[in-house]
Amino acid sequence: MSNEKNLENMADLVSLCKRRGFIFQSSEIYGGLGSCWDYGPLGIELKNNVKNTWWKAMTFRSDVEGLDASILMSPLVWKASGHIDNFTDPLVDCKECKARFRADKIELDAPCPNCKAEDSFTEPREFNLMFETHMGPVKGSGAEVYLRPETAQGIFVNFLNVQSTMRKKLPFGIAQIGKAFRNEITPGNFIFRTREFEQMEMQYFVKPGEQKKFMDEGKEIRYQWHLDNGIRKENLRFHPHGPDELAHYADAAEDIEYKFPIGWDEMEGIHSRTDFDLKQHAELSGKNLNYVDQADGNKKYLPYVIETSVGCDRHLLALLCDAYRLENEGTKEERTVLKFKPHIAPVKIAVMPLMKKPQLEECATNILNELQKNYKCEYDVSGSIGKRYRRQDEIGTPLCITVDFDSLEDNAVTIRDRDSMKQERIEISKIGQYVREQLGF
Ligand code: ATP
Repeated sequence: MSNEKNLENMADLVSLCKRRGFIFQSSEIYGGLGSCWDYGPLGIELKNNVKNTWWKAMTFRSDVEGLDASILMSPLVWKASGHIDNFTDPLVDCKECKARFRADKIELDAPCPNCKAEDSFTEPREFNLMFETHMGPVKGSGAEVYLRPETAQGIFVNFLNVQSTMRKKLPFGIAQIGKAFRNEITPGNFIFRTREFEQMEMQYFVKPGEQKKFMDEGKEIRYQWHLDNGIRKENLRFHPHGPDELAHYADAAEDIEYKFPIGWDEMEGIHSRTDFDLKQHAELSGKNLNYVDQADGNKKYLPYVIETSVGCDRHLLALLCDAYRLENEGTKEERTVLKFKPHIAPVKIAVMPLMKKPQLEECATNILNELQKNYKCEYDVSGSIGKRYRRQDEIGTPLCITVDFDSLEDNAVTIRDRDSMKQERIEISKIGQYVREQLGF
């Protein structure tokens, strides 16, 4: 029985991610840029897998359509949504060391967490989190635009476009994956809170009065998605918003929280947003956004909305934390393994000739070329086979295929399973079938 430990310290994960090509600091050679990260070769595979599972779960159903709205939108969108006036965090500065904090996240009568100075905070002031930029060549000509702080508004302003072109009847949803930007005051904890991130959001439009039923349904669907991607149940929980946390336009909200090494925190928000957004846009644009309900005597009304909003990067961080295991610490058998589910793993199969010999390489390359038609694979020929297995364990590759000298005689290879480390001898002609059975696709 191996003895295994879960991830206890975020620094261990940050170091693995850098060492193995998952995530690098943005602009690293210039000293990095605050809370911006680059996804490396393995990171982007992992991220694409996350997005694909979300897209499939949320849009491969007849009542949901996809959308890809522009990041830059009319500033009036943000006026209507309330972001220009209200998307703020209370900010305090330390008068001694000039560090900035969110007033709602620290004790204002305690010493500064950075320099320990007493009584050093300024009065809280509201700080808008939207990044502002300028459209066109002339700065200051009144052409300010914003990098969107959420993807949801692109969905709301396209509600009628999608509804009418796709001839949708309530209830139906619009789903979108895209970048969002927030000038967070206290970002950090690796990719947990960054200034540029990706959201995966679905707005589900329902008849007013039916929101509770669809909120319950949405919660269940979203919870199950996290489980299906491999997050352990004991690390997931719901956090319903109490009256003091509830946004003024919402009639109910719950977060799905994950037990990160830094503690329980939000991974996804599920919000019952009433008709707030559509009403605001109808008012400010002067456009009639009513839905005509043919099933209810052509009644005209603004639908209510259930929103599910998950950060792609935050879910990806949870997947990394959850998959991380340190086995047999301090012994000869010590290894770090990312126990990703096969559909999440960035690399599915590693193909390795035992040694750098032309015949072995030729055989291995033929196998690789065949498997690469369907799976992301790696080819690795350098170092001892033990070291190569450890590397694949650390990046979470479910299967390793080794071609040895016997392969040239018996037309078979050794396939090693990441989790059990068991090895099986499989005929080359049966690799495709074996791999399909093991991976499940
Ligand atoms: P928080 O309270 O943590 O600032 P929020 O409640 O404002 O987050 P929402 O606006 O509901 O977050 O955004 C939905 C999801 O988007 C969050 O659950 C999270 O997964 C993700 N998200 C929000 N802000 C960030 C960020 N700065 N970095 C990474 N992901 C984020």
